[in-house]
Parts: sequence; structure tokens; C-alpha cells
Amino acid sequence: MNTALVHSDAYTRFDYGPEHPLRMERLGLTWRLMEAYGLTKLPDAALHACEPATESAIALFHGQEYLDVLKAANGGVAPQHAERYGLGPGDNPVFPGLWDAARLCAGGSLLAAELVASGKATRAFHFAGGLHHALPARASGFCYVNDAVLAILYLKSRGLRVLYVDIDAHHGDGVQHAFYSDPTVLTISTHERGDYLFPGTGFVEEVGEGDGVGYSVNLPLEPYTDSAVYLPAFEQVVPPLAGAFRPDVVVAQLGIDSHRTDPLTHLALDVQGFARAVAHIAELAPRLLCLGGGGYDLQNVARAWTAAWAVLNGVELPAELPVSFAEEARRYQFEVRTLWDRPSTGGSAPRSTSIGRWTRSGASSSRSTGCSARRAPGYCAGTRRSTSASFSVAHAQMIGTPAATATPCATSRGISAWLCARSCADFSCGHSPSDGWLAMEARAARATCSSCWFARSPAFQAEAARM
Ligand SMILES: [Zn+2]
Repeated sequence: MNTALVHSDAYTRFDYGPEHPLRMERLGLTWRLMEAYGLTKLPDAALHACEPATESAIALFHGQEYLDVLKAANGGVAPQHAERYGLGPGDNPVFPGLWDAARLCAGGSLLAAELVASGKATRAFHFAGGLHHALPARASGFCYVNDAVLAILYLKSRGLRVLYVDIDAHHGDGVQHAFYSDPTVLTISTHERGDYLFPGTGFVEEVGEGDGVGYSVNLPLEPYTDSAVYLPAFEQVVPPLAGAFRPDVVVAQLGIDSHRTDPLTHLALDVQGFARAVAHIAELAPRLLCLGGGGYDLQNVARAWTAAWAVLNGVELPAELPVSFAEEARRYQFEVRTLWDRPSTGGSAPRSTSIGRWTRSGASSSRSTGCSARRAPGYCAGTRRSTSASFSVAHAQMIGTPAATATPCATSRGISAWLCARSCADFSCGHSPSDGWLAMEARAARATCSSCWFARSPAFQAEAARM
């Protein structure tokens, strides 16, 4: 088995800004821990430096107008109307080299996809990739260009059947959106449930549309879900669907913001649970392309992705961090000097019974929504229902609006429907909640969207009143 590690030192040139949680230094730190463990000199693992993707390759998913705005933002100054494309202070800042960074990341994931598609590598890892929130014409959730979608499109163009598994704490909304009506790509996302965490999507009811019904699968998780709850739920959903779908290649987004010390989320996994999930994914994958993703506590990012790369290579690492890494561990204030976390001392324990019960029931529903992947006519009868109806019911419940008064938005198309429902009656107005979340949306939508059911909801009005 040959593996490939795709990375570039050039990532350190870029900076989202001093207050931004996405620290580019996490990539260099990860590399140095891999290096210290000897994982950058494995006999059957090739190292590859990534090159920026071409604009035409990126344009296979993103609109030209949006790409022109990204290019115009490369100097570090926001171009006119940047906010229409999700750019600006907050989640998706304009910083010097923004377009260069996005191209480099897309190039890395496309290179990894090419290595896997050509057979030069059975497994490849580009840990700077996995920017799964970017939409065709909008930056979202720290993501400007969706390298995961571009990699999947490339693999598809080579005639490969793709299973996408996303274990980031946030829903893989941009990737789900891209393949929502496509039965040749099965997307499975496990994440903290959308009524507690950005981007607010990824409910069980989001099952795909048209020919793609059953090929979008979501496993929303309760806050404080730990490895002991997560792994059995993962087992219930992912292996059976992968077995039914029979992919040629698996693309995995390995965000580690699911960790119990991550500052942006409320899940409670540890590094060993994360590594076990990666091992399960690897077992299911004839060929495997791994991408990074979220992760905002740097010590977790370095340890988890190092552990993942070891798993992909079948290498067992000593638990003690290498002596040569001690100075880094001190500088970055690692709480543990081991690859693995200490056993949890509580926190989620008092709630583990109820969390486990809820997650098991969610896992069972998630698996059944993926039923058309089983290619069994009739099996799906119970779950084939109007997507727009399930959206409005689920979302009305979420914000406390009686379902009967909720009107599905005009363009009830998958995730777009959800975006519309959250902000106004027409997604084309540009008021998506994908960045800045509810507060910004309240401000943006208040003037123009007063008639939509979401704008009339108590949750929205309370937020708007605070502005
Ligand atoms: Zn995330």
C-alpha cells in the first residue's frame, strides 16, 4: 500500500487575522509533530508539495462573479459589495493573499485526488484541506473555496463512485449542497446538531432531492457527545451505508473541532475516539482521500492529524510525544505530553445516558434515510416525503413556530431551502445565515424580509430587537 502526504510550507504566509480562531500555524505544528514521530520519512509514503489550483479548475464549482471578487480581495482590501459574497469582518475576513491561500488549498486537495485516482497512492492526506462550508457564490464558515467538492468532482470525472464522510463538528453543508441531487455521491455527515451550532443545517430530514433522495445522510449529535457515544452511533450509520453504496473511493473530512476542549463547539470526543473513527473509515475505503477541516485548539489538531496519518499508514505510535517535540509542546501549552487524551473526568458524564439514548435514536433514523443507497425499491416508501415539508416542520420546531403556520420557501431545493427558510423567502436576496449567524442575519433581513415566516418568529424577533 502506497500513501501520499500533501502539504506546503507556503500556508504559513497566510493569516486570517489576530482574533480569528483559524490559526494557520496549526498546519506547521502538525507537520512538526509528524516529523518528530518519523512519519514524514516512511518508506511507502510519498511527500508532495501542493501547487495552486487553476482558476478554471475552481470554476467547476464556484461562479465566475464570486471568483472575481476573491481575486479582487487578494490584496487584503475588501472589494465593493464583498459582503454579498460572505466576505468581511467576522468569519470570512479579507486578508492579504486570500485568493492565493484558497487556490493553494484547492490545488492540494486536487493533487491528492489525482494521486488516488491514478493509483499512485491508495491513501492520501491533505490536512490543510476540508474547507467544507464554501458555497458556489459565497464564503462561509472560514471557507472561501470548497476544496472537498472540487476533489469529489475530479474523482467523479475519472468515473469513480464517491462516498464522502465528514466527521467535523460542523455539518458539511457546502458538500451536501453540491451533491444534493446526485446519486453517484453519497454524503454522510456527523456533527453537533444544527440548532446548537453553525451552520444550522444537517438535520436527519435532509435526505437529498430528486434522484439524490437517500444519498445525503446526516447524524446530528447532542452537545457533550463523547467518544463512547459517538463511536457506536458512527458504527450504526456509516459501515452499513458504505457497504450498500460500494464506493470506489472515500473522501473523508477529518475536522477535529469535535474534541472536548475545542473552543468553538460542544462535542466531547478525545483524540483516541477520533483516531478510531478514522480507522473505521479507512477499513471501509478501497481508496481513501483524507482532508483536514476544523480544529481550533492547536494541541488537538497536531495530535489528532498525526494520529490519523499514522492510522493511514498502519503505524502504531508510542503514546509519549517525542522528546524532540518537547519545546513545541511547551510553547503551545500542551495539557498532555502524550498523543492520547487522559480519560474524561466527568463533564459530560452526568448527561451521558440521555445523550446516548438520543444519539442512538438519531442514528437509527439517519441510517433509514440513507435507504435508497440500498437500491431496494419500496424500502424507502416511509421516508420518501416532501423535502420542503420536512424542512418546514423540522425548522419550525427548532425555532418554536407551529408547523401549521410555517410556509415553505419558494425555492424549496435542499439546503437552499433551509437557507431561505432561515433568512427570507428567496435565497437570491443573498441573506443566508451561513456566516455571522443569526445576529447578522437579523440585521440584514429585518429591512427586506419582514414577511417571511422566519422573520416573524419569536427567536428571530428577539435577536433583531437586540441589534
Ligand atoms: Zn468545523
